[in-house]
Amino acid sequence: MENLSNIGVIRDLLARHGFRFSKALGQNFLVNPTVCPRMAEQGGAGPGVGVIEIGAGVGVLTAELARRADRVVCVEIDGRLLPVLAETLAGFQNVEIVNADVMKVDLRALIAEKLGGLRVVVCANLPYYITSPIVMGLLEQRLPIESVTVMVQKEAAQRLCALPGTREAGAGSCAVRYYSEPKVLFPVSRGSFLPSPDVDSAVIRLDIRREPPVDPGDEKTFFRVVRAAFSMRRKTLLNCLSAGLPLPKERAAALLERAGVPAGARAEQLTLEQFAAVSRALAEEA
Ligand code: SAM
Repeated sequence: MENLSNIGVIRDLLARHGFRFSKALGQNFLVNPTVCPRMAEQGGAGPGVGVIEIGAGVGVLTAELARRADRVVCVEIDGRLLPVLAETLAGFQNVEIVNADVMKVDLRALIAEKLGGLRVVVCANLPYYITSPIVMGLLEQRLPIESVTVMVQKEAAQRLCALPGTREAGAGSCAVRYYSEPKVLFPVSRGSFLPSPDVDSAVIRLDIRREPPVDPGDEKTFFRVVRAAFSMRRKTLLNCLSAGLPLPKERAAALLERAGVPAGARAEQLTLEQFAAVSRALAEEA
């Protein structure tokens, strides 16, 4: 297939198939030739590796993944792209497109059925309207995957990769860091896409941890504490936990004291270990 990063080639291809971009499906296709090879390389596509991609578009990243990995399985919701992909990916025997909504697919079963025996990574230019549900879903399901390398909005990249204890931290970044070691790999300008979105992007990689970095006692309690702590950004931890768990103020204060965490602190000042200490103290109470 001709150069899939070339705007003229893509326009011609899509016109021949009568394809019109769907904004609702987050269809901004990559047209910067340097981005997909870098994503595939840094995302770990290589011999012995099976890749799950989400959203093929015209297959520009799919092709780079297929050149390097043993197998690529791509979940694409838009059936109108199937004839386009049949044309652009015709040269690859190791690619399968699954026409489905990634939010409804049983990814564990898909991996077992189609990528058995391979080390598995996820690599995708995500549809931005469902970035968080996809990323959190991939992590929370504890899938047998080694890493998640995804293009997301620049602000989402900063939020998801924020270090607990810093101003950008939130419930999402604490969860991301609990399940993985996140890293911002490189920025991608809005001009790298067709059509061009209103925001810049960045590629991030989440290396999945085998073991959580802290002992939360009970995991459900840990995430209840984290969510409650970040529920009201300007309030103190004491107020947030008291309102969010919910607990009478005196009990919330006693809990924080047992955990060794200052009641006047704010959630964004806490490390994961401190959240874990509060979680353990709460679990002990039950
Ligand atoms: N990988 C291509 C690229 O880099 O040019 C396309 C990326 S585009 C940002 C997102 C893709 O995800 C589109 O092809 C869109 O149709 C697809 N998509 C949107 N929502 C989806 C969903 N719920 N499940 C699977 N694919 C989805």
